[in-house]
Amino acid sequence: MARVRIEKLTKSFGDVVAVDAISAEIADGEFMCLLGPSGCGKTTTLRMIAGLEQQDEGDIYIGDTLVNDLPPKDRDIGMVFQFYAMYPDKNVFEQIAFPLRMRKFPRDEINKRVRDVAEMLGIGELLKEPVSRLTVGDRQKIEIGRAIVRQPQVYLLDEPLTNLDAKLRAHTRADLKRIQSELKTTTIYVTHDQLEAMILSSRIAIMDKGKIVQYDTPDRLYERPSDLFVAGFVGTPPMNFVDCTLTHDKDACRLDAGDFKYDVSDMAELIRTSSPGSELILGIRPEDLRIAERPSDRDRIDGQVDIIEPLGSRMIVNLRVGKHYLKANTRAMPLQANQKVKIIFDRSRIHIFDKKTGSVIV
Ligand code: ATP
Repeated sequence: MARVRIEKLTKSFGDVVAVDAISAEIADGEFMCLLGPSGCGKTTTLRMIAGLEQQDEGDIYIGDTLVNDLPPKDRDIGMVFQFYAMYPDKNVFEQIAFPLRMRKFPRDEINKRVRDVAEMLGIGELLKEPVSRLTVGDRQKIEIGRAIVRQPQVYLLDEPLTNLDAKLRAHTRADLKRIQSELKTTTIYVTHDQLEAMILSSRIAIMDKGKIVQYDTPDRLYERPSDLFVAGFVGTPPMNFVDCTLTHDKDACRLDAGDFKYDVSDMAELIRTSSPGSELILGIRPEDLRIAERPSDRDRIDGQVDIIEPLGSRMIVNLRVGKHYLKANTRAMPLQANQKVKIIFDRSRIHIFDKKTGSVIV
């Protein structure tokens, strides 16, 4: 096991800056995710750490060793990629044993390790089966087995669950989490699936256009997003955003969204000092927005139910407030399309962003 440190890592392909001077430290035994939309530089970052891609600038440390000039085989990493190639005529035992045979491990050690890993992955009874007879899910487990059997210092995984259907994905995700918590091997995991990242990792680096925008725990990313990009990327359904301006009159300071006004007198000073312009974006998560049954006078907003998406004990209610569309994630309640309702934002959970810079203010 070892911590991993990257410092000002940069890589361009022609004019495209794929990774732009990113720095991060992944603690010993930590499960860290690189999360972001397609093309943001996740895979390139992982490939540089693996030694499959040479960085233009920056340093990579595994443990205390600067590995910039080491080939992949000398970096002591185990890799699992989305597209796997296996020899179809070899059986499961041989597939998993392959990295150990390459390194000339003794026969007894190979036997023990392969059996232990297969048990851990729940494929112990398949060891004699040829790979060609296996399901996609079992093949993916073999790929994971091959990476962990050598007990490297670091695992690097690139979207390893992409080829699996939803049910198998959830199952294998839980397996991965269990195995990593048992082995406590430092893990860097690439995904564009925010739910997967939130479930698996202790910390997530959110990437956008080659940069790390925020590197934090799942809870902090959800509760305290540093900007609009992170706020919109983490959470399902995503946070509601409403364009507004800051207005003052003699008794109150309000966010004016045209179709409704929201009193922010208690935060006025903070907003004024943090944001020079008055163009703001109000953010509220669907789960922090309530449809009032007994509305009080304060903070209520007139809206109308549009589409309802039932989810069993909960429901997503699409609401119209003038020209604005908002989503509420609420417990199931008897609502109907076009019904007029009062909407309440949880005051302690609203976010306010500067429209120009995207940075969070509150
Ligand atoms: P995805 O989830 O789609 O794989 P990603 O976040 O992993 O996306 P990268 O694959 O790292 O992103 O790509 C980052 C940028 O670098 C993209 O614009 C991509 O087109 C470009 N890129 C990556 N590899 C190469 C390459 N070998 N040659 C040219 N451009 C590349």
